Amino acid sequence: MGQGLSCRGSHEHGLFRAVQHGDFETFATLLETHPSLMNHTTVYDRHSPLHIAAANGQIHILTRLLDGSVNPDVLNRQKQTPLMLAAMHGKFACVEKLLEAGANVLMFDSVNGRTCLHYAAYYGHSSCLKAILSAAQSSPVAASWGFARFVNIRDGRGATPLHLAARQRRPECVHILLDRGALVCAPTGRYGCPGSTALHLAARGGSLDCIRSLLAWGADRLQRDTSGRIPYMVALKHRHGACAALLNPTSAEPLVWPSPLKLISELNPEAKALLERALMDANKEREKNILKGSAYSLPSPSHSDGDDDNISEVSETELCCICFEQVCTIEVQNCGHQMCAQCTLALCCHNKPNPATASLTPPLCPFCRSTIARLVVVKIEENHDDIDLDNSVDIDCSKLSKSRKSRNLNEGGGSSSFKGLSTVGSFGKIGGRNSGKIAAENDYVDDKQQ
Ligand SMILES: [Zn+2]
Ligand SMILES: [Zn+2]
Repeated sequence: MGQGLSCRGSHEHGLFRAVQHGDFETFATLLETHPSLMNHTTVYDRHSPLHIAAANGQIHILTRLLDGSVNPDVLNRQKQTPLMLAAMHGKFACVEKLLEAGANVLMFDSVNGRTCLHYAAYYGHSSCLKAILSAAQSSPVAASWGFARFVNIRDGRGATPLHLAARQRRPECVHILLDRGALVCAPTGRYGCPGSTALHLAARGGSLDCIRSLLAWGADRLQRDTSGRIPYMVALKHRHGACAALLNPTSAEPLVWPSPLKLISELNPEAKALLERALMDANKEREKNILKGSAYSLPSPSHSDGDDDNISEVSETELCCICFEQVCTIEVQNCGHQMCAQCTLALCCHNKPNPATASLTPPLCPFCRSTIARLVVVKIEENHDDIDLDNSVDIDCSKLSKSRKSRNLNEGGGSSSFKGLSTVGSFGKIGGRNSGKIAAENDYVDDKQQ
């Protein structure tokens, strides 16, 4: 019997080794001769072959195991699923395959009560994070739970994936989570207790990019954690000087991604990216002033400086009729009016939602006052010299833009209401401010997670 055990043990060992190193041949042979090995686990951690394949990104073996009808949600000693391990190690193909096989995104481990989404955010694997979020959008589990709730799912200590991404300096994950509805001002404290916000944790981690994204999404610089500190104090304490400068409540308010833009259901990804970039550029310009004189210098935004030459060459008709400075890059649909990204942001920020009516109204086109159904990126016409090729089209275009311009100018009311981006408030934080009361709960926890 001892003989049998050690024999089995060596087969087991051989299998786990083969899985770990992606030795498909050995794996397949062993599985054929000893099919029950599929359900064996390592002695201490109780990792199944599927766990090992997922953690090591052995997609072929993982696929074979799943095809062999192994349970995709098999648990190890710490109640981690293979999906959690794949997300932790950034094994994107394995994450996708496991999701395809129906792996449950709503499982909690027994270490910190975390889900696969926490793992992806904590370790900064943005593609895995996206894949899990997309799966959650269509999975029946998340449907019963609600997608928004899933994005803001808390671990055993009250941390959402956004908290973890901010703390671990994962700006890309922070951005994705905010984009999918993560609550920017949610504290880690549960049941109405205060705690650290993502901004506190970003201040602690010292990531400028995370702080920028959070501020642009309406994070509150004045919200206090359990010890009564604002994020500024946290950054100072951890000697993140540039972060502290941005978080200093006396420095200029950053521009905030306007919530009316969230109402435009079909804000297409291109236009959105362009507007976001404009917002970030504008914020970086302000940062220059904030950080001027301090020891922290920042690289200037990569795309604003070089464009000046181009702008001077642009014919007048392509200039934004609101500011007469920038080129039109955004087109309003369905009316077809155009303006620059900065003015679009200003327009949407200008349209503050009225909290009393609770129902937000989508922004209107400043030129014709029709409802903005869609914002798209203006197609840049190339080869202006080749008029011969499509003469008629070009003439039509110039007529259109001329008439557009005169119409725009006639409606003085529309453009005079613009005060530019400097007036943009931070109403994105409406509803996000939580009670300032201080409870005796422990400060956020991440000391242990270092
Ligand atoms: Zn403009
Ligand atoms: Zn219009």
